Amino acid sequence: MFADLHLHSHFSDGTYAPEEIVAHGARFGLAALALTDHDSVEGCARMAVACEAAGIEFIPGAELTAEQAGNELHLLGYFLDTHNTKLFAELTKFQTVRQNRIREMVAQLNKLNVPLSADAVFALANCRSPGRPHVARALVNAGLCRSLDEAFERFLKKNRPAWVPKLKMSALDAIELIHQAGGLAVMAHPGLNRMDEIIPELVDAGLDGIECFHTKHSPATAARYLALAAKFQLLVTGGSDCHGLSKGKPLIGTVKLDYAYVEKLKVARRKAAEPLNR
Ligand code: AMP
Ligand code: FE
Ligand code: FE
Ligand code: ZN
Repeated sequence: MFADLHLHSHFSDGTYAPEEIVAHGARFGLAALALTDHDSVEGCARMAVACEAAGIEFIPGAELTAEQAGNELHLLGYFLDTHNTKLFAELTKFQTVRQNRIREMVAQLNKLNVPLSADAVFALANCRSPGRPHVARALVNAGLCRSLDEAFERFLKKNRPAWVPKLKMSALDAIELIHQAGGLAVMAHPGLNRMDEIIPELVDAGLDGIECFHTKHSPATAARYLALAAKFQLLVTGGSDCHGLSKGKPLIGTVKLDYAYVEKLKVARRKAAEPLNR
């Protein structure tokens, strides 16, 4: 039995509806799926219904954008109470930040004589948690860039002319936010951020796990983080980080997390829910 615990829907920068994700998960015979949209839990209700109908276990989640020592870091929250008041307030705040950032990025593009409108991006994104991929898609749709890669390379990558930094919560606040919403906090794709030196600090702050298996982790990278997880007694997660089609194929199913790791997550979650442990 296998799971995919890192999936994006059109409630953030993925292209699939929650139901489509579940249909693909069923096609690959996955036993458990987690939805981890950027700064949003909005798709979780529909995903839960679709998973139930498909006989797949569902874990409600989100991927929070945080920072530590000036570097961006993504934290995955699993088993979140999607109705938690503080979580809702914070996600709403960061969604507003994202919407304003889209306007700022479009203003930068306009200064460069790239005639894109913020409304075109919002219409395409059609979600509360828009991001750079939506700007990239809007640029391609308007014939202003030939590909998403070109849009990122020319304009949207960090330090490129239309890149705008995003207000982020600190990693410690993100861990706390996840915990107070009943969730487990997991460092996402550490192989992409290469900030291993901060892991001890995050562990002290209550980090519960590391995403060892990820589409962009080589077997050597996965092994490296499995060793770190063992060293710090952290949980192990993994997922495809599917955003829809990638080079004509969905990534869902390409990273198969052994279900034994999901069992361990569930044990940890039950322990965390016992009143004296937190
Ligand atoms: P944002 O949250 O708005 O900063 O956008 C980050 C998202 O953009 C990531 O989660 C990826 O989905 C996507 N992304 C980042 N870099 C690239 C890139 N070079 N090419 C395509 N997509 C990217
Ligand atoms: Fe994304
Ligand atoms: Fe991420
Ligand atoms: Zn992701």
